[in-house]
Amino acid sequence: MAEIRQIAIYGKGGIGKSTTTQNLTAGLTELGRKVLVVGCDPKADSTRLLLGSLAQRTVLDSMRETGDNVTLESIMKVGYQGIKCVESGGPEPGVGCAGRGIITSIGLLERLGAYTEELNFVFYDVLGDVVCGGFAMPIREGKAKEIYIVASGEMMALYAANNIAKGIQRYALKGGVRLGGIICNSRNVDREIELLRAFSEELGTQLIYFVPRDNIVQHAEIRRKTVLEFKPDSSQAEEYRKLAKRIDENTHFVIPKPMTQERLEAILLQYGLMDILDNYKI
Ligand code: ADP
Ligand code: MG
Repeated sequence: MAEIRQIAIYGKGGIGKSTTTQNLTAGLTELGRKVLVVGCDPKADSTRLLLGSLAQRTVLDSMRETGDNVTLESIMKVGYQGIKCVESGGPEPGVGCAGRGIITSIGLLERLGAYTEELNFVFYDVLGDVVCGGFAMPIREGKAKEIYIVASGEMMALYAANNIAKGIQRYALKGGVRLGGIICNSRNVDREIELLRAFSEELGTQLIYFVPRDNIVQHAEIRRKTVLEFKPDSSQAEEYRKLAKRIDENTHFVIPKPMTQERLEAILLQYGLMDILDNYKI
């Protein structure tokens, strides 16, 4: 039996992790793959497009309500194309560490037998700009061995991606965690694809896919659908299918080499972003 590929998706907040994860997993099902998506963001919106609604109950909600009597059926729902969906949820605002929820959820999913043999992929959609503490949980102790970082040509997205690479490097040196590539979710920045290629190369990884920006993503989102479900014949749906195929076929896994701030800024300068900053006198 092939091992389940457990994949963590990291990237700056709002960069498009949840959107990209859901569309790409929808694409994977068209290749016959069986997928589980575990939302690791207290917002609990990682599976909304697959379920057609926000998850009714997160793992932490269920545990608060029923203690140790949580059943798999109460926390794992089946969404679009049979994709299994779990939201770890978070503590009440201001109480406790959000990272704990992830630790608790993964442990519970294991005990309840969620990681069944027929699964090909588990995706962890993880909040955060840095791989710290609880948010590193999916990659600690080798739960998720494969990581993708979602970024764009915007400076803050690249700063975050580089910081995430630092966190990954730490765990990679200790265990089997590897970076599979950078996914560019375009913000229509000038020369974005070249910039992202250069950035990826500097990290020792690859730009695995460039996802264009397209308003059809919002139109689908309003209807609580992936683009693949909303407009299967659209060019954007085709982009997500290609991304899915790239990930399905990926064999390029590395320990990233994060760069210094100076080096990152030099790359940004080279591709003209500094000119933009100068224009705005930042
Ligand atoms: P994250 O999970 O990283 O916080 P989301 O997936 O929630 O980010 O995306 C943030 C917003 O960006 C969403 O409202 C989504 O509609 C939009 N978005 C994401 N990807 C694209 C895209 N390729 N084109 C247009 N809009 C996008
Ligand atoms: Mg999200």
